[in-house]
Amino acid sequence: MIKFSKPDRKVIKVFLHCSDSDIPEHDNIETITRWHVDENGWTYIGYQYVITQDGVVHKGRSLEIQPAAQYPFNRDTIAICLTGRYEFSEAQYDSLRELCSQIAEAYEYEITFHGHNEIDISRTCPVFPYRNVLGLDKHGYITKAKPVINKEPKSGNIISRFFSFFGDLF
Ligand SMILES: [Zn+2]
Repeated sequence: MIKFSKPDRKVIKVFLHCSDSDIPEHDNIETITRWHVDENGWTYIGYQYVITQDGVVHKGRSLEIQPAAQYPFNRDTIAICLTGRYEFSEAQYDSLRELCSQIAEAYEYEITFHGHNEIDISRTCPVFPYRNVLGLDKHGYITKAKPVINKEPKSGNIISRFFSFFGDLF
């Protein structure tokens, strides 16, 4: 697994995509690079990461450059693509969870994760159930790994502390 470290540019959101192809010959970063560079005429592949069906995380476009993946919302984002159209693997989900938890941790959980279809409802991309896979709340934050800050109720603190301290005497 790659080790994520924050780029110098500002990043506030991560967008999730799929390659929209189940063809085995397309299950690699070289093919997607060819689509973006040779066919679209871009300088680089549009995504920062591509996760192939075997669960390997491939580095694409530099993190220091904004992605070309969900126009007009590329600014301040990172784009991750899973290869596939209808079929995605547990290995891909495991790697996505690992990568996204590294990203969330690097930004102290103040970063949100979104599907491409959230900003373009005409699309089904990324198709896979990313909210469940990543355990997102309704705003797109990764919640499972969030630390519990203070569950003690605000009122009754003194009383509950009293009982937890003297409780053994009663
Ligand atoms: Zn997409």
